[in-house]
Amino acid sequence: MTDSNTATPIETDALIVGAGPVGLFAIFELGMLKIKAHIVDSLEQIGGQCTALYPEKPIFDIPAWPKIDGAELIEKLEEQAAPFDPVYHLNEQVAGLARQDDGRFLMETSQGTRFLTKSVVIAAGGGAFGPNRPPLEGLEGFEGTSVFYMVRRREDFRGKRIVIAGGGDSAVDWAMSLPEVAEKVYVVHRRDKFRAAPESVERMNAWAENGKLELVTPYQLSGLDGTDGQLSAVLVKDFDGNERRLEADVLLPFFGLAAKLGPIADWGFPIEKQVIPVDRATCQTAEPGIYAIGDVAQYDGKLKLILQGFADAAAAAHSIRDIVYPDEPLHFEYSTTKGIPSG
Ligand SMILES: Cc1cc2nc3c(=O)[nH]c(=O)nc-3n(C[C@H](O)[C@H](O)[C@H](O)COP(=O)(O)OP(=O)(O)OC[C@H]3O[C@@H](n4cnc5c(N)ncnc54)[C@H](O)[C@@H]3O)c2cc1C
Repeated sequence: MTDSNTATPIETDALIVGAGPVGLFAIFELGMLKIKAHIVDSLEQIGGQCTALYPEKPIFDIPAWPKIDGAELIEKLEEQAAPFDPVYHLNEQVAGLARQDDGRFLMETSQGTRFLTKSVVIAAGGGAFGPNRPPLEGLEGFEGTSVFYMVRRREDFRGKRIVIAGGGDSAVDWAMSLPEVAEKVYVVHRRDKFRAAPESVERMNAWAENGKLELVTPYQLSGLDGTDGQLSAVLVKDFDGNERRLEADVLLPFFGLAAKLGPIADWGFPIEKQVIPVDRATCQTAEPGIYAIGDVAQYDGKLKLILQGFADAAAAAHSIRDIVYPDEPLHFEYSTTKGIPSG
């Protein structure tokens, strides 16, 4: 944690790390006990694995939803959390954590946002998602200006010369879409065969035959050329070492997402094989005031299922209530009795 950061910390009762399904439900469970939460996620959208990995796949084992798509489940959870006015801090990864003399935690994100919180709820799943980056010299200098790991608005690429790299669904989907706006599209893949849905690959091959895009296979990315963050060419090599220079303004590497726990691993409590051992009854870690729920939490009999993560969220919220309201005994009430705050 940088001591040089003088920004006033945001004060809160609970800071949730991870806006996956379980982190989102934790907002609700905490809110029902009058515990105010802020929530941080390294992705630019909420939903964790459900949104990032399978938004359109149906889930069949959410109680009372015989079938619900990943993205729809997240919409419902966001709606359920909304009455408690959660504050989302997206595109930020948690970094440092230090306990203060008054027992609260000072936490800082990669973006420099600081929180002073009475409790921390780690709902980090398999870890912070980020793109798999190709090992190219000088790559960082082009990121955000000429190299992008996702396409937000296709229009941003109008008139550009684009190199798409990868052989999966994202690469093939954008290879079918970007030629409509781009000046030139190359698709670089290290194999001749693509791993995407066969009908998409067929359509992409047809586009290549019509000259709308150029398939560059079997080639791998080997270098970048350009100045001041602006690409002028992407270099590729085949397996015999023959190099080609593709004149381009933009590189879109689509090599999937990787998840890593990152700085959480240095917060002082034990972590075993990317999971955090907790007390099953409360989901508290070995560090009082820090809780772990959902896929990242480990106890005997743990199932990495959304529904078990929801139960973890309820257990943690009840334990956190003792920290936030130490002098107020809990009179347990059902939601049917106490209702929820009206908008
Ligand atoms: C293809 C597929 C199908 C599945 N089908 C089912 C199913 O049918 N039923 C079922 O119950 N489960 C299913 N699962 C599993 C289910 O998706 C997970 O159990 C669930 O997503 C776990 O939720 P979570 O909130 O604990 O973690 P995640 O969904 O992994 O969310 C964690 C979030 O935390 C963020 N994060 C992590 N570290 C940090 C950090 N340091 N700073 C900021 N943000 C951070 C991540 O970016 C991520 O958004 C499936 C999983 C996959 C991949």
